[in-house]
Amino acid sequence: MLNSSVSLRRRGITNNNNIHNPFQGPSSRLSTISRCSLILLFITACFNASTKDFSFNNWRESSSSSAASSHSNNKKGLPQSVLQQQHDICVVGAGLSGAVIAERYATQLNQKVLIVEKRGHIGGNCYDFLDPQANVRISKYGAHLFHTKHERVWEYVQQFSEWTPYEHKVIGLVNNTHVPIPVNIDTVNTLFGLQLTNSQQMDQWLAKEQVKYDHEPSNAEEVALSRVGPRLYDLIFKPYTKKQWDRDPKELGPEVTARIPVRNDFDGRYFSDPYQALPKRGYTAIFERMFHHPNIQVYTNVDYFDVRSQLDCGRTYYTGPIDTYFADLGWEKLQYRSLTFERQFYKNKDFFQPAFVVNHPYESADFTRIVEYKHLPDQPKSPHTVIFVERSSDVGEPYYPIPNQRNKDLFRKYQDMANKEPKVTFVGRLANYKYFNMDDAILNALELFDQDTQQQQKQRQEKAKTTS
Ligand SMILES: Cc1cc2nc3c(=O)[nH]c(=O)nc-3n(C[C@H](O)[C@H](O)[C@H](O)COP(=O)(O)OP(=O)(O)OC[C@H]3O[C@@H](n4cnc5c(N)ncnc54)[C@H](O)[C@@H]3O)c2cc1C
Repeated sequence: MLNSSVSLRRRGITNNNNIHNPFQGPSSRLSTISRCSLILLFITACFNASTKDFSFNNWRESSSSSAASSHSNNKKGLPQSVLQQQHDICVVGAGLSGAVIAERYATQLNQKVLIVEKRGHIGGNCYDFLDPQANVRISKYGAHLFHTKHERVWEYVQQFSEWTPYEHKVIGLVNNTHVPIPVNIDTVNTLFGLQLTNSQQMDQWLAKEQVKYDHEPSNAEEVALSRVGPRLYDLIFKPYTKKQWDRDPKELGPEVTARIPVRNDFDGRYFSDPYQALPKRGYTAIFERMFHHPNIQVYTNVDYFDVRSQLDCGRTYYTGPIDTYFADLGWEKLQYRSLTFERQFYKNKDFFQPAFVVNHPYESADFTRIVEYKHLPDQPKSPHTVIFVERSSDVGEPYYPIPNQRNKDLFRKYQDMANKEPKVTFVGRLANYKYFNMDDAILNALELFDQDTQQQQKQRQEKAKTTS
């Protein structure tokens, strides 16, 4: 599937780099020999790149800057040569949704794609890099575990990476004891001194605990109480949800706690999808592979809204926040919950904690969880470790849509505007104001590509019929 020509070039490892396609413009006249040496150079560069952090200098700053706040975040514009070109497809955002759209149009329809990304790196929220001090690969925007039940998605991602099977397990510190999260038989036995041995006993225990309502549970508290009862709710669900959302669970939609799995067996896995794995060389390397095509140009540090009026695009795929796109309307903003990551480095320490992720649901901790990436497979060898203490926050990168009626209604208004926007498709988690797992984002983009291209083909056929 991959074109052997490497079209992504990185000029260095600082945060201000634009990435562009060297086969465009004058360099498309390069001789075969110089192309070959370029290809070799690029392959070497890409190999090195996957082990280098190209935005480390900036990682602290970015988790607290608001992506939804303004259009004036760019440090660079686009070169004149790019502004003068006609682009079949323009993609706003080099995250997963934008990458799938770009890759599909470039490889399946041989169309020229321009991607602009306002951050200093590709990969969107999946971006990872090597922490140079600890020599551990870390994710800049929080831990990312790939899991899916969709065959199509699993097959699709195989093209861009080798994958190491990995079943994510989370531990929670509850009543000073480490217990499995999500709640399973082991969790209940440990916390309440029981000796349940099978699913039937667990179901009976849960049934006795559960609060019965004479109506459909209508908020996050009622859903949790109806699923696990007051004891587990008070110990785990309530304080964690409160910290995560800074709102009482009563004020949150039922979907918030309905999503949290509760198991009636000993299964300690966080996800139950049939495909669970991690990319051997990290997520950023996947994006590099996806963009390795002569039809794709990627420019980072470019805010779409600073160049929009100068661009000539056949169709645009917008993966940024929907309310930012319609900022000129002066409507209220959609609300998001964010995270901050406090980095702590431990010199000559093998491991800080017993698992990759340890949740701290209890009220007295002002953080929600601690992540130690060194536990993940395919990490380079290191005598040190690094941890990230996560706190939820109202300000910062727009991560989790806040599911309340105000936001749902407001989003519908924006969506009506989006449906009327000619030649623009809104794609991805920010444009849909919806939490997408990575596989949802991929599937959504693949299906949109199918839908749009079928429609375009139909229009072409109709046009041909009327002209003949
Ligand atoms: C903390 C956290 C943990 C997660 N963990 C998991 C996990 O374990 N497993 C899982 O499956 N999923 C996880 N996800 C979800 C995953 O991150 C998303 O599915 C994925 O990032 C969606 O890709 P996207 O392209 O839609 O959005 P994004 O990754 O957000 O990409 C959008 C891109 O558009 C750019 N952009 C926005 N506005 C502009 C503009 N005006 N001009 C130019 N560029 C612009 C942004 O900078 C960004 O790079 C997690 C998400 C978060 C927030």
